[in-house]
Amino acid sequence: MKKIAAVSVLFLILLCSCASGPEPVPAFSVTAGGLEVHFIDVGQGDCILLKNADSSVLIDAGSDEESDKVLSYLRSAGIATLTVAVGTHPHEDHIGSLDEVIDAFSPETVVMPKVSANTKAFENVLDAVSAQNKKIKAAKTGLVLEVGELSLSFLSPPQDSGFDNLNDYSAVISVTYAGKTFLFCGDAERPAEERMLEGGQNVKCDVLKVGHHGSSTSTTGEFLKAAAPQYAVISVGAKNSFGHPAKAVLRRLSDAGAEVYRTDRNGDIVFTVSPEGRLEVRLKKGEQNAA
Ligand SMILES: [Zn+2]
Repeated sequence: MKKIAAVSVLFLILLCSCASGPEPVPAFSVTAGGLEVHFIDVGQGDCILLKNADSSVLIDAGSDEESDKVLSYLRSAGIATLTVAVGTHPHEDHIGSLDEVIDAFSPETVVMPKVSANTKAFENVLDAVSAQNKKIKAAKTGLVLEVGELSLSFLSPPQDSGFDNLNDYSAVISVTYAGKTFLFCGDAERPAEERMLEGGQNVKCDVLKVGHHGSSTSTTGEFLKAAAPQYAVISVGAKNSFGHPAKAVLRRLSDAGAEVYRTDRNGDIVFTVSPEGRLEVRLKKGEQNAA
């Protein structure tokens, strides 16, 4: 009896010490051998972490004021060094914290489109890259980066783009793992979407990171028809001054049958793909879901 009681007490102590311990952040565990795609809530901006075995890819880093959140999220996700860091295009809400990410996680490869901006945020990224004696790899249509078990296919921007709008220079990346495809559109708008379709780029995906925070100038009906996503993620700040996401885009997504998640409502959104190709959505806020 005594022994059973002692074991029970020990069990209770263990239970209590676990329950009272600090909550792990992020509260999602690595699926052994699988892929995790974290859409990190950085308010009005983009920041996406892909994790697979020993490889990690960061697509955008949020604005400068989100740097504490981004750095602590990456650390708590177990990232010591990044394999690849991509700045989709040189706007502050995408590359504002990229210099700090480069300083802290020394990515082996930094990728950005060959377009410059006369901003402090852009200069800071250039300085951070040259401080590590590295060069920026040009994001362009046709570039394929093999990162561990992942293959990153760049569908945009085309080399001879000549776009007027910086958003259209966004690196658009398709990543397939275990038969499931994610398409990350940065802030690409209609002209870039049209060029991808005209160029015969394969935009078909299971999960679409909606272009330009759900602005009405992105995610055209034609593009959406070709992409045909099961899930759509909008990275957007609550009560942002741009009116993102546009009602028209939400309607187009719902007409296309896509299930929509938003960082302003769901916070950090994590998708996992098992080695067998099981796709799941994990949320801290809102309903849990599984495909
Ligand atoms: Zn943006």
